[in-house]
Amino acid sequence: MKIGIFSNPGSDSTRVSNALKSKIKAEHLTLDNGHPDILITVGGDGTLLSAFHHYEDQLASIRFVGIHTGHLGFYTDWRDYEVDELIDSLAHDNGQSVSYPLLDMLIEYSNGDRESRLALNESTLKKVTGTMLANVYIKDQLFELFRGDGLCVSTPTGSTAYNKSAGGAVISSELNVVQVSEIASINNRVFRTLGSPIIISPSEWVRIEPVQLDKSQVNDILMTCDQNMVENHRIKSVTYRISKQRIAFAEYRHTQFWKRVSESFIGVKPID
Ligand code: NAP
Ligand code: MN
Repeated sequence: MKIGIFSNPGSDSTRVSNALKSKIKAEHLTLDNGHPDILITVGGDGTLLSAFHHYEDQLASIRFVGIHTGHLGFYTDWRDYEVDELIDSLAHDNGQSVSYPLLDMLIEYSNGDRESRLALNESTLKKVTGTMLANVYIKDQLFELFRGDGLCVSTPTGSTAYNKSAGGAVISSELNVVQVSEIASINNRVFRTLGSPIIISPSEWVRIEPVQLDKSQVNDILMTCDQNMVENHRIKSVTYRISKQRIAFAEYRHTQFWKRVSESFIGVKPID
């Protein structure tokens, strides 16, 4: 089995990834960052997001494992002091995995170019200055005319990230859905949006067409795909749907999704 390591450059993560490397060699497992079967990320959820995009074209053959050098994260099940336990799990691996939905983005530019992107957490469309005006379609049916800061389209595992700050629901990672949440929409007698997040099924799609009032070819819409800004030309539309691809994690232990949410955001203890 080939194992890759993707570490953030911090000193804690470097120390953990060096320890990992020597233990992997001692177990006679193969280190291969080019085409790994298992990719271990060392850092935080942000590091896992970077690794996902780095290995995006190998999703069908990679299972991810996340080690968090800080607190427990959403994509990171292991803590830095659990390296020995993880090595033991790798040595006894029998291919166990769990997979989660991804967000497919089809971008159409005003010059006719098209581009596809994949997001693990979410994509947002925002205006750099002023408010964003956009026609929002669901399955080719005009749904609303949005005016506000922007829109956030997220996966179930991304629902605890930006989406949650935008007032979206936290979605079970067992559901194959995509959520659209509003970022500071304007609602008055002139402008009206639904005002609540919406969740679409695998047979549906959402198309967002920013209305660019400035008729020059300058693009003033900011488009993100996870932690990255998509460098772009003037955007005509972005069509979002649930991807046919998924991200797989090696499931050596199972952290129940709702336990993770409760521990990360609430840290509740029973009253005795
Ligand atoms: P960052 O600024 O370090 O991320 C912000 C926080 O989001 C970090 O605490 C990060 O955890 C956490 N996070 C990432 N994915 C998460 C998930 N699926 N569920 C719950 N928390 C999550 O930047 P980053 O680490 O590169 O992460 C990029 C993400 O930041 C974007 O995909 C977006 O979701 C989020 N973001 C949020 C806002 C907002 O809430 N207003 C604005 C911009 C971006 P770690 O510390 O473990 O990395
Ligand atoms: Mn981060």
